[in-house]
Amino acid sequence: MDTLPRLTRARASDSVADMLRASILGSTFRPGQRLDVKSLADQLGVSPTPVKDAINRLAAEGLIDIRPRSGTFVTDITPKMVEEIFEVRRGLECLAAELTMAHMTPALLRMFTALTRQLEAPVTNETERAEHERANVALHMLFVESSGNQRLVEMYRSLNAHLTIARIHSRQRPDATRMEAELHEHSALLEAIQAGDTPRLVQVLGDHIRRAGKDLVEDVTLAQSADRN
Ligand SMILES: [Zn+2]
Repeated sequence: MDTLPRLTRARASDSVADMLRASILGSTFRPGQRLDVKSLADQLGVSPTPVKDAINRLAAEGLIDIRPRSGTFVTDITPKMVEEIFEVRRGLECLAAELTMAHMTPALLRMFTALTRQLEAPVTNETERAEHERANVALHMLFVESSGNQRLVEMYRSLNAHLTIARIHSRQRPDATRMEAELHEHSALLEAIQAGDTPRLVQVLGDHIRRAGKDLVEDVTLAQSADRN
């Protein structure tokens, strides 16, 4: 009868991981906040084991930081981390774009066109903003997933947990100047793809990611000084 307890434990740790992930991404827990296994287990009415399992899993996803002899914390995002992540992201994504252009198909071109059109829609409320953000992520993911390089896809995904936390905790009001810049940059990407101009695409994509990184670094810096006050 030792399969039953194992199954239960796996399920409990799944639910705890889902709950913790939602709490981190939904801002219930702040970046840098200490997480106590025993009090989490008490609150959730489970034993410490599934909580520890869940924490290990979220640590592997980059959402939780386990510091030996110090404790368990929600991953904290510094402006420097965002800067570094965007540098790596720029390298990976420009390489992905180059690889994708080497085997562009009419179907793929239609997908790039559809997502770019979607990103041209005006953003006037929270729902549209979330929709816009999803399309933006999908557009960038399309370069990466069409690259045909699984190693690249995995590396790129591993950068994303941190960026998600950074975006959530630094959420600014929609900025008209930034939206305008973004719109132009996304259209320029599509034009380069349509023209089959790989060097131009890599140039425009690199500039776009550099600009977006700079903006997020600025937001995270502002959010940190707001937290301190
Ligand atoms: Zn973009």
